Amino acid sequence: MSTKNNRSEARISEIRNIRKIEISVDDLFDGIKARQKTELGRAITLVESNNTVHHEAAQELIERCLSLQTSSVRIGITGVPGVGKSTFIETFGKNLTKLGKKVAVLAVDPTSTQNKGSILGDKTRMQKLSQDPNAFIRPSPAGESLGGVAQKTREAIVICEATGYDVILIETVGVGQSEVAVHGMVDFFLVLKLSGAGDELQGIKRGILEMADAVVINKADGDNITKADLAVKEFTRALHLYPPKKNGWVPKVAACSAIENSGIEEIWNMIDDYIAKQKESGFLKELRQEQNKYWLLQTIENRLVTDFYQNDKIKKELKKQINAVTKGSTSPFRAANELLRLTKKI
Ligand code: GDP
Repeated sequence: MSTKNNRSEARISEIRNIRKIEISVDDLFDGIKARQKTELGRAITLVESNNTVHHEAAQELIERCLSLQTSSVRIGITGVPGVGKSTFIETFGKNLTKLGKKVAVLAVDPTSTQNKGSILGDKTRMQKLSQDPNAFIRPSPAGESLGGVAQKTREAIVICEATGYDVILIETVGVGQSEVAVHGMVDFFLVLKLSGAGDELQGIKRGILEMADAVVINKADGDNITKADLAVKEFTRALHLYPPKKNGWVPKVAACSAIENSGIEEIWNMIDDYIAKQKESGFLKELRQEQNKYWLLQTIENRLVTDFYQNDKIKKELKKQINAVTKGSTSPFRAANELLRLTKKI
């Protein structure tokens, strides 16, 4: 009996695998054009797949999606755990769907595989927004490297846009270089902060203020309002010390309460104003062109690295070389040279 069960389980999994492989790009693309959420989810799963069998179908789908003319706003949101990112995104997203917009929420969380359980994904998040028919929420793709995770999120953006989502929110927890990666894929970069006791600028990651198009002090409610106002002043002063941005935008500082939905409408108005100005000046187009160039180079790097480590000959030789380096019988540089030499023979 149990053998029979095992056999039928094996058969079911075999059928599933075949189904997984036989994904029809035509069907997925039809679903995307028909703006179906389930097909959008399936399309992103295809793009996220590490199975090389899926790569070609994924690329074809992305190309078709790119051929559709879309006009969306891409917003990056970062902040330390507990600052209120998910609460903010939920309130902000609900406000946007009320305005008739379709909102997609994606994430870049490189800890999702390193820590078994991501910082962003391990709690029940954005429940109200996830039930909204005009919102789509997708947790961070899992991946070995930030480069891989970011690449998949970028491709997911294209698919969401093709499915008719007009505001794409990309959340990141700010581990390692993830903010830089997200900054490189969005039109507007928003940094969420908490008000402290006058030491706002301490502990802020270097470089983050330079990237910010807006700093928003969250939890400006109850007893916190005065402190939040002080934080707004301090950040405004600090941001003025930076040289002006190439696009002429002076980063804005604002306060809000994601829980009470106060100050949130103003944040959207600010972003809307920014987008209008950047479109008019042609900077938005230029920015996206620059980003595409950057992603072209990133894709090459990622692909080279992935292909390298997935190659069977390299895998075997790598084990040998790691062993030799550990024993001290070769240097890491000589070992690397040996391995790289192999790529020329492959
Ligand atoms: P995340 O880790 O950055 O996603 O933060 P969460 O959205 O999970 O929020 C962390 C905690 O802060 C939760 O207990 C929220 O209820 C609370 N929180 C979030 N936004 C606000 C706010 O505007 N005001 C107050 N008082 N609490 C908030």
